[in-house]
Amino acid sequence: MTLLPPNDAPSLLRELSGLAAVLAAGAGAVAWSAIAPRSQLFGATLRRTGRSDAVALTFDDGPNPALTPRLLRLLDENKIRATFFLIGRYVRNCPSLVQEIAAAGHTIGNHTDTHPNLFWLSPSKIAAELARCQDAIVQACGQQPVWMRPPFGYRGPQLFPVVRRAGFRGVVMWSRLAWDWKPQPVEKLIFRLRRVRGGDIVLLHDGDHRHQRGNRNLTLAGLDYWLPLWKGAGLQFVTLDDLAARSAPAPALREDSSRAPLTKSKASGN
Ligand SMILES: [Zn+2]
Repeated sequence: MTLLPPNDAPSLLRELSGLAAVLAAGAGAVAWSAIAPRSQLFGATLRRTGRSDAVALTFDDGPNPALTPRLLRLLDENKIRATFFLIGRYVRNCPSLVQEIAAAGHTIGNHTDTHPNLFWLSPSKIAAELARCQDAIVQACGQQPVWMRPPFGYRGPQLFPVVRRAGFRGVVMWSRLAWDWKPQPVEKLIFRLRRVRGGDIVLLHDGDHRHQRGNRNLTLAGLDYWLPLWKGAGLQFVTLDDLAARSAPAPALREDSSRAPLTKSKASGN
């Protein structure tokens, strides 16, 4: 290594700090691509319904015996069908509840077996997580999920080939969330949900990935407030299988997201 003359030291420092900034920006871009719901860099995801009059409510981290039965009643009272992304290890603990969800006409999706951060997992470990969850759901209710949602929304470039090989139609994110996993006054959650519009896929939680009987009364209270109002305003509610039925084959898995009718809508918040 050549020693620099003293008067070059500041310029070297400037170059090094420039390099550090570039590296930090690169790491930031990777992190954004892995986390942001609207990022399509690692692969196309489904995050809007593609129908300006229709909302898809999605519930993660169940089944939860402490809440899901009450949520099913509330949805039934309002004649709304939704999508449930279930955790495989929870499914094995209460298969009858999974049967209830399926029997009510809701779509069931795969939310992995143990809810790990998939960004750090090898393709074979991701495949095993999806397969174990899939088996649990098929055993419980006979339904074969065709949609998956990555835990925490985290996904790396290795996820998409695995998902495709496993036969899923797509990776589902969201366009709207209400931070319903965070403790907050119900008024705040209600306020956050005011922005739900036609076209949104809404992320909500009937379960808690840390323990199966998590308290999600807040989510239920927020929906109890909003569902009749949304219905009254003319919003339609669709499941992800409803969307699949009316779309071209596997649009969410196309590499070119700009041509995918279900993924081209602009980001809207969160
Ligand atoms: Zn989750």
